[in-house]
Parts: sequence; structure tokens; C-alpha cells
Amino acid sequence: AAVIVAIDGPSGTGKSSTSRAVAAQLGLSYLDTGAQYRAMTWWMLSNGIDVRDAAEVATAAAKPVIVSGTDPTAPTITVDGEDAAGPIRTQEVTSGVSAVSAVPEVRTRITELQRTIAAQAQGGIVVEGRDIGTTVLPDADLKIFLTASPEARAARRSGELKGSDLAATKEALIRRDAADSGRKTSPLAKADDACEVDTTELTLQQVIECVVTLVEE
Ligand code: C5P
Repeated sequence: AAVIVAIDGPSGTGKSSTSRAVAAQLGLSYLDTGAQYRAMTWWMLSNGIDVRDAAEVATAAAKPVIVSGTDPTAPTITVDGEDAAGPIRTQEVTSGVSAVSAVPEVRTRITELQRTIAAQAQGGIVVEGRDIGTTVLPDADLKIFLTASPEARAARRSGELKGSDLAATKEALIRRDAADSGRKTSPLAKADDACEVDTTELTLQQVIECVVTLVEE
């Protein structure tokens, strides 16, 4: 049967690298749901929508055609047929994405997309995000919740940055977490039946092995 794995957690926990590697090792498809929210945000910014105006965002939420390629070794994302992989990683999109993804119409639309993709994944799929285990795929076969200390997460996000850059990255990360978890429409939340893996002291390889073992159990 198709196995469905939900991997949730905040940014900087190694969620994307882990999810892709686990999917590749087990021959499963892969979906990055953060990329979908970023794609929606990029489309809004490109089309002159004020992303701080929830009513405007809600009205436009049905418009962009967002298509995700689910090969874990080469994931893709297009918006209205245009490659969005680069533009969705800009600072402008990162700054706007929490506001856009807080709008219920956006979440409903993207959640539907996610459920369709998961249902169509032949051999099974690893879906990574914030609310996959709690809301999108509550019947997933395995739910993982990745955590790490703020210091470890900021360090991973900023690579080798030191001093004030690291401090600034940590501040920005904590701010985005607060924006993501403080809102009522989609808390970053651990499902009651999720396995929590604290990655602070683990290498990426150890986290991957840990999750692969859990899937195989
Ligand atoms: O995972 P990533 O950091 O790319 O996600 C970008 C943003 O998309 C998050 O900060 C959050 O606001 C939103 N998001 C969400 N629900 C998800 C995945 C991401 O609201 N399942």
C-alpha cells in the first residue's frame, strides 16, 4: 500500500533535506508544502496584491495555477507555467509568506492541492510542512515532528555566518516562528501521535537514518 509520511517542524531543523533524502531512499514521492505557500506569495507580489491586505489576498487565492513536481531528487514548482524555484527563495517572498499563508482561503486552496497530490502518489509520499500531521493528512501512516534549539536552527540557516549576522538570522527566524504559530488559522503544531525528533545534537545523516528506521518499523 502507498505509505504516507508527514514531516512537520519549524525552519532550520533540516526538514527539507531530511524529507528529500528519506523519500529518495525509500522510493517515495516528495512534496514541499512551504514551497507552495511561497509560490502563492510570489504570485501575489508579482500581481500587485498587497499581501498585508487579507481581503485582497483571499479574493486572489483561487487564481494562480501552482504545480509541484514530486521527484525527491529534482523537485520543481511552477506558477502559471513559469518556473518559480528561484523567485520563491527571495527575501521579499520570505517576508510576505507568513501573512499570505495566514489567510484561510489560501490554506483551504493549498490544502486541497496537497491532498490531491498525496492521493495520486503511486508508491507513497513524504509531505513536509507545518500542519501536515495535524490538518492536511491526519491519517498519515507516520508523523514526524522535527525540532532543534534556536541557536542550531539559526546556524544551519545562515551557514557559516558568525556574530551579528547569526544573531540577526536567529531574530528573523524566531519572528517567523511566532508569526506562524501565533495565528489561529494554522498553528505550527505537533500532532498527538507524532514522533518528536530533536535534531540539535544530530548530523543530517543521523536524522535521515532515524526517520527511515521509523518508516520501516
Ligand atoms: O518551509 P518554509 O520555510 O519554506 O515555509 C515558508 C512559510 O510557509 C512558513 O513560514 C509558513 O508561513 C508557511 N507554511 C505554512 N504551512 C505549511 C508550510 C509552510 O503555513 N504547511
